[in-house]
Amino acid sequence: MARVFVITGPSGVGKGTLIRGLMERVAQLELSVSATTRAPRLGERDGVDYHFLTRTEFNTKVNEGAFVEHADYAGRSYGTLRSELERRVRAGTPVVLEIEVQGARQVRAAMPEAVQVFIAPPSLPALRTRLVGRGTDDHNEVERRLMVAEHELKAQPEFAHVVVNDRLDEALERLVAIVTAELD
Ligand code: ADP
Ligand code: 5GP
Repeated sequence: MARVFVITGPSGVGKGTLIRGLMERVAQLELSVSATTRAPRLGERDGVDYHFLTRTEFNTKVNEGAFVEHADYAGRSYGTLRSELERRVRAGTPVVLEIEVQGARQVRAAMPEAVQVFIAPPSLPALRTRLVGRGTDDHNEVERRLMVAEHELKAQPEFAHVVVNDRLDEALERLVAIVTAELD
């Protein structure tokens, strides 16, 4: 049976970085491309990093039932399209979802067999340093994301796996170990 891996945790914790490393190490994994109403960042490509949708397009897809899960995050909408997930599951390809906590809860309710991993920062100051250092978000956006992060961190006990991303190499080893154990 194909497996679904949900990687969640606050913005800036290193989910994207860890997932890039994971995909290099476990070649059979494919990443689900989410839909969002937020604007593309410099260098982001439509259909590759996200399916960038207008608010109207996103709402139409919600009404059509096109999403496995969707949530509002820092004033924008994000969602996992059924089309991204179902064809891979049918083909037996293990798939990775990189989503925030509300979406992870919806996936847990719909697909309790999905493997859920919460990536935690070593501390809130470290998370701030990473968000600022990434340079993709202005001051207000960083503060919005840190406020959401404080709530998200309280959700850790809900998750079967928690990986603290302190040293990147160690966190990647732990994530690879969790995923390969499930695939075996
Ligand atoms: P997310 O996808 O969770 O929003 P990113 O993968 O974009 O987070 O990482 C946010 C920033 O933190 C990036 O600049 C990344 O290079 C950096 N980063 C990731 N992991 C670590 C780590 N273990 N230690 C220090 N910096 C990190
Ligand atoms: P960003 O704007 O930094 O790309 O993403 C903001 C947050 O939305 C991150 O926590 C990211 O994991 C989350 N996210 C990305 N795609 C999805 C999705 O399809 N569904 C949900 N629920 N969250 C998502």
